Amino acid sequence: MTTKQFEAESKRLLEMMINSIYSQREVFLRELISNASDAIDKLYYKALTNDNLTFHPDDYYIKITPNKEKRELTIEDTGIGMTKEELVDHLGVIAKSGSLAFKKDNELKDGHDIIGQFGVGFYAAFMVADKVTVRTKSIDSDQAYVWVSEGAEGYTIEPSNKTNVGTEITLTIKESENEEDDFDQFLETNQLKSMIKKYSDFIRYPIKMDIVSQQPQEDGEEPTEVMEEKTVNSMIPIWKKNKSELTEADYHQFYKEKHYGYDQPLQHIHLSVDGNIRYDAILYIPESMPYNYYSAEYEKGLELYSNGVLIMNKCADLLPDYFSFVKGLVDSEDLSLNISREMLQHDRQLKLIAKNINRKVKSELQKLLKNDREKYEAFFESFGRQLKYGVYSDFGQNKNVLQDLLLFYSSKEKKLVTLAEYVDRMEADQAYIYYATGETNDRIERLPQTEFVLDKGYEVLYLTDDVDEFAVKMLANYQEKEFKSVASGDLGFESEEQSDTEDEVKENQALLAYMKTVLEDKVKDVRISKRLKSHPVCLSNDGDISIEMEKVLNMMPN
Ligand code: ADP
Ligand code: MG
Repeated sequence: MTTKQFEAESKRLLEMMINSIYSQREVFLRELISNASDAIDKLYYKALTNDNLTFHPDDYYIKITPNKEKRELTIEDTGIGMTKEELVDHLGVIAKSGSLAFKKDNELKDGHDIIGQFGVGFYAAFMVADKVTVRTKSIDSDQAYVWVSEGAEGYTIEPSNKTNVGTEITLTIKESENEEDDFDQFLETNQLKSMIKKYSDFIRYPIKMDIVSQQPQEDGEEPTEVMEEKTVNSMIPIWKKNKSELTEADYHQFYKEKHYGYDQPLQHIHLSVDGNIRYDAILYIPESMPYNYYSAEYEKGLELYSNGVLIMNKCADLLPDYFSFVKGLVDSEDLSLNISREMLQHDRQLKLIAKNINRKVKSELQKLLKNDREKYEAFFESFGRQLKYGVYSDFGQNKNVLQDLLLFYSSKEKKLVTLAEYVDRMEADQAYIYYATGETNDRIERLPQTEFVLDKGYEVLYLTDDVDEFAVKMLANYQEKEFKSVASGDLGFESEEQSDTEDEVKENQALLAYMKTVLEDKVKDVRISKRLKSHPVCLSNDGDISIEMEKVLNMMPN
């Protein structure tokens, strides 16, 4: 028997994790239980799409058994099991290099549960165990196997005599080296029970434990102890519960449990819709951006359940791109279960749900903007760019959805403002919504063109994001007020300028012509301007595209 080495990255990751990336050790149990539940789901789903298999919900359970004498804790499930290949593939390699790179780039602080997101939840077991033994028999294999690992050193796989399909994970619990450790709690029935209640109550399959209860005796005799197998969790998924029964903490706990993010959600939305189409949904607006959010790697989507059974991990059709940051799930009994993914895309009901969700997310964001500006700004800091992309990427089709959610930096307020706020305080004689583009607010403020408009007493929006100007161009106007770049030829308030400059042009014709020859084809024209105040010269363009925008366009691949 040879011991296989974990892949190098796995080993480093494992060591890091064992050194407490998880804020609390007890979450190992949540991880193993959620894997067990996933494994039963997989079997259930297979049965639904395969006539040769039947699924009796009563036969499926998760059982947790501590054994103090042996210092062992066993988590057993009747799920789909793993083949030998799956043991190697799924338990032999931890996290892809992407997540490792992420960890290197981002100093991880304590209290951030990032592990599960990357598919390494299983390894949380090593926070509390010296040795992990996985006995498993796959539905697709006649032979069972046993996988054993003592941590970073590697693992072994051998045939096992397990007869029933499913997985049994046995942890050899560590000895406590000091009082803080308290590994013994993971062998105490009562403590385990409360951990299950806390983290895994909603799991849809029974989580069973042998519980000792006192049986009172007649005639004043000492009560006797009886061991009974009991289901510890309530099995009602959180989205099926009544909103009034749930606290903020429950929603936050669920967000963590589901690995939607390692931040705290900014806002949750719980929908129970009972109309033409019935569904429950729990949606979250995260606070901070996933590390890969603005990359092609990021996948949007909501989990899709059909009457409690997970049928798709990331249903992209439920979210428009501009709300791709939304996390959560939708459960509808009106969706047929064994429809293929392709068919799902055309599902009329799905489209209706998507439409509702879109509306709801928008109104929730608007509420946030109105009632908690600070929170909204935190949201906008993370996802504002995505909203602006949304405006321009579909040629302004979503203008109505998005324009009131946008914020831009204001010269007047020295902070982010909405377009409605801008328009509300426009000067009586002001025709346009003015904006200026540049790299930083500071630089924009010092542009001669900005100075000119500010001097007039008008508010200017400073656009510093690449996408800003594209979005503004796509919007074209807001409440019938057109957007106007401070760099454009006609600013709407300079009629006296033209006549004034005529004489000066004549006087300086030679100089202008000379400058033009010196600058050759670097400029189209050299003109006298009345717009300058504290600067001798400024660059301007008459076309539709600003210098900033031209820079962005030039950077784009053809
Ligand atoms: P994740 O659950 O995010 O995929 P884990 O590290 O928790 O990542 O688990 C890795 C993989 O190992 C799972 O995706 C699954 O394929 C397999 N696995 C883990 N536990 C079980 C189990 N009890 N039954 C069947 N497969 C399992
Ligand atoms: Mg897992």
